[in-house]
Amino acid sequence: MNENLNITPMNSAQVRQQERFDRKGTAVAEKMLRQIRELSHMPETLNPFLETLESIFSRREDALRPAGVPTVGTYCVMVPPEMIYAQGAMPVKLCSGSYTAFGIGNDISPRDACPLVKAVMGFEEIDAMPVYQNCSLMAVPVTCDCKKKLAGWLQKRRPTAVLHIPANRDQDEDMESFVGELYRFSETLEQVTGIPLTYKSLADACCMTADAQYQLSRFINLRRKHPLIIRGSFSMSVMNALSYTWLPDWTKQLSDLNDELENLAKQKEMAVKENQPRILLTGSPVIFPNFKIPLLIESMGGLLAADETCMGERGFYDPPAIVDRTVDGMLRALSNRATRPCTCPTFADNQRRIYRIRQLIKDYRIQGVIYHVLRGCLVYDYEYRQLEEEMDRLGIPVIRVETDYNEEDVEQLRIRVEAFIELIKYGGNRS
Ligand code: SF4
Ligand code: SF4
Repeated sequence: MNENLNITPMNSAQVRQQERFDRKGTAVAEKMLRQIRELSHMPETLNPFLETLESIFSRREDALRPAGVPTVGTYCVMVPPEMIYAQGAMPVKLCSGSYTAFGIGNDISPRDACPLVKAVMGFEEIDAMPVYQNCSLMAVPVTCDCKKKLAGWLQKRRPTAVLHIPANRDQDEDMESFVGELYRFSETLEQVTGIPLTYKSLADACCMTADAQYQLSRFINLRRKHPLIIRGSFSMSVMNALSYTWLPDWTKQLSDLNDELENLAKQKEMAVKENQPRILLTGSPVIFPNFKIPLLIESMGGLLAADETCMGERGFYDPPAIVDRTVDGMLRALSNRATRPCTCPTFADNQRRIYRIRQLIKDYRIQGVIYHVLRGCLVYDYEYRQLEEEMDRLGIPVIRVETDYNEEDVEQLRIRVEAFIELIKYGGNRS
């Protein structure tokens, strides 16, 4: 943590930026929420998840949690939430999808930085979002160049823990170094909350996440068994709301949604018709309110049947395999869980992502793949070629769509997504 934080009052440019955010900052979130709600067959029990997104992005409230619990902002799914809960805080995932914050961050970062990081920097520049401003600590894993520079920039302004992620994860020495990072992270958490990591607190936190993961596995199994039961835009809203929800509350909300979906499945009431093309979305993170791709797919007559993104199910699904019931054993299990099954392309060898995508294609009877690249996100862009070759072998159509955080490309994207869905409907295998 940096002890000499350089926090200064806002200058006039920042005041203007804040005024700009106050005028326009919530419009995109409200529009996306309206479009989600307008999609047909929205389950009633989806409402609490949308209300969470509304409270954070439209009413600009802080994350709801028990009184006195501080929040820790995390910038990647590789930060184990169990450690944060165990040490008396609540994790909030702050990777951002805000177009207005992107516009502000764009003025202070290099042109080719990715929009996700620009949007985070934009929020940091202005004092407009309690969920960002109120964090007692930021935790930034160094996964790509943009995150590395973000970490250094944040460190000068806020208490920030930087976690070094190994480029490989199959070698013992790499994993050993990540375990060391988690020990250091735990010390930093203790400085912030005053609560040490103990066997009991970590075991309790692991049980809390296991309850949530059980509900998530129920949800995933339901979707695998009935790929038409729920739209992907709804599913992605559920997973995005997790970023800002006290975990036991999210678990209960998901349990209610699972009950409703099970009832619908019994009555054979599906969200969409059998003949709607089933699409898999993969690539750079899709973070609310940047929901233009999921909403385009579903408003153009496709079904977003599954996603392979870290803001989707992949970000929370894998439970830690705890063999050694000690703090050290649990930290090792968390370190393994955070990295080994992770299909993020920031790792040097990422063959497992192709296996994972093949598995999703089979499980969800996928007919086409949309590969989402945020402009400037090289790590994901690098892997497109490999995926394209694999899809060629499987005879599955795939397109690469590159986007930024603005609405200017929506019409162009609409034409491409519509053509892709038509291609699948009428039996082509290449875009
Ligand atoms: S894309 Fe990779 S580096 Fe970025 S948040 Fe997701 S898992 Fe972390
Ligand atoms: S992985 Fe891509 S989207 Fe995520 S921070 Fe790095 S460049 Fe940006």
